Amino acid sequence: MKVTLVGAGPGDPGLLTVKGRRALERADVVVYDRLVSPAVLELIPASARRIDVGKEASHHPVPQERINQILLEEAQAGHSVVRLKGGDPFVFGRGGEELLALARAGVDFEEIPGVTSAVAAAAYGGIPVTHRDFASSLHIITGHAREGAALEINFEALVRAGGTLAFLMGVTALPAIVQGLLDAGMDRDTPAAMVERGTLPGQRRCLGTLGTLRERAADMGIRSPALIIVGGVCSLAEELCWFERLPLHGKRILVTRPAGRGGTLSEKLRDRGAEVVEFPCVRTEPVLPCPEMERALECAGGYEWLGFTSAAGVEAFWQCLRGMGKDARALGGVKLAAIGAGTGRALEERGLHPDLIPAVYDASHMGRALAEAAGGKVLLLRAEEGSPALTEALEAAGVSFDDIAAYRTIYGGSPPDGLREQLTAGCFDYVTFTSASTVRGLVSAVGEDGDFSRFLGLCIGEQTAGEAGKYGISVRVAERASIDALAELAVRESGGEP
Ligand code: SAH
Repeated sequence: MKVTLVGAGPGDPGLLTVKGRRALERADVVVYDRLVSPAVLELIPASARRIDVGKEASHHPVPQERINQILLEEAQAGHSVVRLKGGDPFVFGRGGEELLALARAGVDFEEIPGVTSAVAAAAYGGIPVTHRDFASSLHIITGHAREGAALEINFEALVRAGGTLAFLMGVTALPAIVQGLLDAGMDRDTPAAMVERGTLPGQRRCLGTLGTLRERAADMGIRSPALIIVGGVCSLAEELCWFERLPLHGKRILVTRPAGRGGTLSEKLRDRGAEVVEFPCVRTEPVLPCPEMERALECAGGYEWLGFTSAAGVEAFWQCLRGMGKDARALGGVKLAAIGAGTGRALEERGLHPDLIPAVYDASHMGRALAEAAGGKVLLLRAEEGSPALTEALEAAGVSFDDIAAYRTIYGGSPPDGLREQLTAGCFDYVTFTSASTVRGLVSAVGEDGDFSRFLGLCIGEQTAGEAGKYGISVRVAERASIDALAELAVRESGGEP
């Protein structure tokens, strides 16, 4: 089989290429390095085996020869292998060495370039690596010396060339790099910068000049991975700063969500600069077989309205209907109600247009809207423990209905490592909840005796907030029950303008 060498980009998962992502989705085995960010690792399909060959600067857990051997063995065993490397694999990534070993062993391979940190960390730091007024060349240099040896850098040539200098792996050697440039005649006042953890939520910038950079970096405690940039372009960094000004920069948010769904909220929060940790903490499972639903659908014409309170309900209904060998025509003239836009979309995807969506997306508004619209009987296909607010509204209005459990919710999921401890330590600024069941999912994963007091719960609606309140979570509620409103709430809470 084949080995595909994929550049994972500098950290922001949005900077993985489309082609690289496609290769990841098809992989049987993924062999990855320390520099690949967790958000990119999240994109590895659950079915793929992961092999971590991450290297630490001083102790090398997996030597290069062994990595080459792993790639060979996995490919020869017939697996589709992705070798995932930070940034671009050919920019100080030893990608060439790995491919040579494969080529010589007659194993097929392919290379998908990545966005190198040499350019991207600078860009997220507000530094264009070239600019007509400042630099007409870019030099990418390693600041890593072979063990025990001095730096092998021709500082005179670099200074003479007059371009932008980007040093990778240069944190330890920073004093020697600065001294080398000064000794070669570079002006002390040449603008210089460092970008630590570039493109990642915890990015920090250290701005100065060649003369001041060492001291400033030491004061700020800049650590690897960081990019050192030297040259006139660094003088633009204040004016072009954008990433660290994003409204959620520096915020760490736990996004709880149903398994197999979501992702859009995370994306919206990441686009606004947040560090997002996803936790699929609830899963739904259609009640199958469901004789009760089958009976109801057999004589669907006896109902005036069919009501759905989630996309999972629509899915369960559709599976049941298809299992009976029927399709949408079985519904005839039955009218359709959906609790909100997402549920409405699930219907539209199956060629069914909702006749009613309440103005406020929650169970009690849905109940009231249905009660007002209904003259005949209502069929509700929803969760096993659906909210009583819906049926209470129908009862109060004297509307007759059947309430059938179409799916059940399974709580807990597989939480991120050390979630309980992270919550106790106050590692999350916010936790988002898009339904009462996500609150229960978090609580069941962490344990009821967990510490829920150290973060703010951002809730999609009042019922969700009510559930969160039971566990002592301080809550804020979105203005509307939508993902966009939830993202806006996060921005407002952190003091920004949505
Ligand atoms: N192949 C990688 C570079 C590997 S060498 C690439 O193309 O980006 C490792 C060095 O890359 C680190 O020491 C650091 O200098 C730089 N680096 C990698 N990721 C970085 C990041 N997110 N921010 C700043 N520098 C980074």
